[in-house]
Amino acid sequence: MSARQSGLSEDLGRIVGRDHVLTERERLLPYGHDESDLGDHLPEIVVRPRTAGEIAQVLKLCGNLGVPVTPSAARSGKSGGSLPVRGGVALSMERFDRILEIRREDLVGRAEAGVVTGDYMKAVEAVGLFYPPDPASLAFCTLGGNVAENAGGPRALKYGVTREYILGLEVVLPTGEILRVGKQTIKGVAGFDLTALFVGSEGLLGIVTEITTKLLPLPREVQTALCLFRDTAEASRAVSAVLAEGVLPRALEFIDDVAIAASAVARAPYQFPPGCGAAVLAEVDGNVPEACAREIERVGSVCERHGAIDVLLAQNESQRRDLWETRRRISINLKALHPLKISEDVAVPRSRIPDLVAEVQAIGRRLGLAVACYGHAGDGNLHANVLYDRPEERPRVDEAVADLLRAAIRLGGTITGEHGVGLAKKEFLELEQGKDVVALERRLKAFFDPAGILNPGKMFPGA
Ligand SMILES: Cc1cc2nc3c(=O)[nH]c(=O)nc-3n(C[C@H](O)[C@H](O)[C@H](O)COP(=O)(O)OP(=O)(O)OC[C@H]3O[C@@H](n4cnc5c(N)ncnc54)[C@H](O)[C@@H]3O)c2cc1C
Repeated sequence: MSARQSGLSEDLGRIVGRDHVLTERERLLPYGHDESDLGDHLPEIVVRPRTAGEIAQVLKLCGNLGVPVTPSAARSGKSGGSLPVRGGVALSMERFDRILEIRREDLVGRAEAGVVTGDYMKAVEAVGLFYPPDPASLAFCTLGGNVAENAGGPRALKYGVTREYILGLEVVLPTGEILRVGKQTIKGVAGFDLTALFVGSEGLLGIVTEITTKLLPLPREVQTALCLFRDTAEASRAVSAVLAEGVLPRALEFIDDVAIAASAVARAPYQFPPGCGAAVLAEVDGNVPEACAREIERVGSVCERHGAIDVLLAQNESQRRDLWETRRRISINLKALHPLKISEDVAVPRSRIPDLVAEVQAIGRRLGLAVACYGHAGDGNLHANVLYDRPEERPRVDEAVADLLRAAIRLGGTITGEHGVGLAKKEFLELEQGKDVVALERRLKAFFDPAGILNPGKMFPGA
């Protein structure tokens, strides 16, 4: 242990307790990587505070010493946001794990930032309420990570992303001030909307400790259909056609031939039949069973008109779960085809989905790479995963990624629909937003974090 590490760990131990300061290499290892495949970046120290007051003291101490602090939650992020690229301290939110209240009559819930999203959903559903944001990683990602990335998910098509559900936050600023921003009411317009500023700020402006969310009544009826197609062109056109028909499913997910092949190799719970080269997973919800049945049939018949070879309606909860498990596992199952991958999440205006799918396939063909394309096509957000086998192939993969991001911008879209800029896409931010907007964002960062200690090296080009 270096002299700096040992002095700092003693000071940190006095704040959070010695058991919650980690310095041994084996214990640091998990905090050095996430799901971005951007390599290992070990922190020098991991600290696991339990209260906002402890976080404030940690930040003041590190601010005085100029030591970088990187917020770390479940590390399921795909843009490298939690990687401590400058070393220093990884500040883990794992002990902020309590659901504080669910107020049925107010349709409001409050939880600590380290609560696992799926656990929060289940607790809310147990009292007949609904927290819609459903990232496919919900079994392990946290509410705080979702707020930092403004996470989306399949249901964003009808219900919107995390931002739409965040009423208020408790935040610790890099200077150590503890603030409560936002409100506990559904309406409220007093002052600047600082809550919205923190949502999606990727852990650069402050550390979120507590989250107040809006809740909805739980829809009583859900119907799910899987529409099978021969090829991706037909399936992607069907997605646009369903939306143009005036139906708003809660989810409309696209699955391409590469993702289908991966599901077969990895033995996903649902096995696609031979001849199926693409699929659309659709789900509608509401309170009236007959109305939901009519809606899902409408989705099915639009898909048939656009070339679907079969439309399967989930007959029970277990079939529905199998279909969603198959969809959720695609990201992981792709590694059964090729061990390495870079996962992109560009979004385009929904009418341009067929063009985006065609662009992705052309890029793959030109560079001789397998590129899987799947995800939330209903809201224009597709996960294009560039697959490869050996690290030496990385320059070609980076070229494919750059082409893909440029194509998304050309089609009127964005470089990231939900995963964030982080480390992965910082060199492309100006391409999308322009120099002036990025310069304003840099000034905001400097205003909140004058010492530049919180999550440095992320989001900004050249950072
Ligand atoms: C299989 C799989 C499927 C996925 N599906 C989706 C999906 O459908 N939709 C989607 O949006 N994402 C998805 N993701 C990406 C990822 O799960 C989300 O970005 C998620 O929000 C990250 O949460 P986390 O708790 O893992 O945060 P981490 O990865 O630990 O951190 C993410 C960022 O948030 C910051 N941070 C974490 N906690 C705090 C806090 N309390 N205060 C301030 N900053 C904080 C970190 O510094 C980092 O910059 C998926 C990932 C995987 C592996």
